[in-house]
Amino acid sequence: ELNQQKLHVAIVSSPGMGHLIPVLLLGHRLATVHHLHVTVLAVTTETSAAESQLMDTAHTINIVKIPLGDLSSLLNPHDAVVTHLAVMMRQARHGIRCAISAMARRPDVLIADLFSSESLPIADEFRLQKYVYVPCSARFVSLITYCQVLDKDVKGQYVDRTEPLVIPGCDPVRCEDVPDPMLDRNDQQYKEFVRMGIDFVTLSDGILMNTWTDFEGKRIKALKNNEILRSVVKVPVYDIGPLTREADEAGLEKSKAIEWLDKQPVGSVLFVSFGSGGTLSAEQTTELASGLELSQQRFLWVIRPPVGSSTDGAFFTAGTGPDGPPDYLPEGFLTRTQNVGLLWTTWAPQVEILNHRSIGGFLTHCGLNSVFESIKGGVPMIAWPLYAEQRLNASIVTEEMKVGVRPAVLPTKKVVGREEIEKMARRLMESEEGKKMRERE
Ligand code: UDP
Repeated sequence: ELNQQKLHVAIVSSPGMGHLIPVLLLGHRLATVHHLHVTVLAVTTETSAAESQLMDTAHTINIVKIPLGDLSSLLNPHDAVVTHLAVMMRQARHGIRCAISAMARRPDVLIADLFSSESLPIADEFRLQKYVYVPCSARFVSLITYCQVLDKDVKGQYVDRTEPLVIPGCDPVRCEDVPDPMLDRNDQQYKEFVRMGIDFVTLSDGILMNTWTDFEGKRIKALKNNEILRSVVKVPVYDIGPLTREADEAGLEKSKAIEWLDKQPVGSVLFVSFGSGGTLSAEQTTELASGLELSQQRFLWVIRPPVGSSTDGAFFTAGTGPDGPPDYLPEGFLTRTQNVGLLWTTWAPQVEILNHRSIGGFLTHCGLNSVFESIKGGVPMIAWPLYAEQRLNASIVTEEMKVGVRPAVLPTKKVVGREEIEKMARRLMESEEGKKMRERE
């Protein structure tokens, strides 16, 4: 059934639902809208969430799983997620090369996702065109590609600076908003981050970004035209977004979460979720529970057990939380909130939830997929960034698009207290301001 006339595109995806989902969206778009033959070379940790995403798209694109082998001697449990991903994707190169070489019909194009840029030289071995797909904002792309310059020009830790970082043609970036890998320049993940930015502009024929002009026109323009930035970003950049999931109204089985939402009044429920990997400390979990209770708003909370002080404690295990009611919440919380709140401990049907008429707000960690899904559903946000580039996204949501509120302190610096949570929830769900935000979307 292989049509020899069709261009064949192979796309490499790195572990993490926030990476896999945009790759599958890109693959699906290329296959259904542009009628290309698409193979996704998926490096995943085999969670049920990843499996079901792969299953859902297997009818339009080819999926080849890339084995990783035993990584235990290479991975240090104390290393950051970005370091883990870099090590995994370096290791995956052998499997990627074998997979391509075993294909009856060789690809014409190789697209590497942001963590697999070291696979781009494989394209040269097979004489393929090569692109990197960064499913992030132009804000992030300008920062990661320009980081090689900052690395030379800026002395000391970025986070110790009071002056924002200047990126040519773009709005300055507050030092407290830099992505996690830039927080400590002595950490391995910083070296990986600088290296990735260099890879993007030296190893690829072009950079695809999941963004679009209405979302951040000025920075897209700068990436394409600003002379100083172009002297670093020498390859073409393409704003191909928004690539975001559609609600699956015809979904086979109605989730219990949706059944519960069906019974709630229109616009009355605050959806609370920290993406596929986000976790809160025990203290922050208690404050959040108490804040929700004080606010007297209805809520649907995708909840995970605290993992020490880690903010990305579920990154590699997305949606595989322990069964049964959480035992780490304030005493009596479950009983007192049973009529207004639903706690969800596994993978949630997020897109269907955000498109449900009962949802009136979204307390989100600001992963870019979640931000797009929220905007698409017309749902205003409480921006609660935790890790990766989420602080950058939060500032777009609250300061540029003005479709969200955020706590006075960064949740990664200080525990957000219950009173502030109560206030934000009321502001979003009950006030005129919340209504305006909803209209803006
Ligand atoms: N997601 C979901 N159910 C969950 C948690 C996450 O469907 O219980 C989806 C969410 O809709 C989004 C993706 O997983 O599409 C997470 O990507 P995002 O960029 O928001 O954050 P990340 O998880 O990468 O931090």
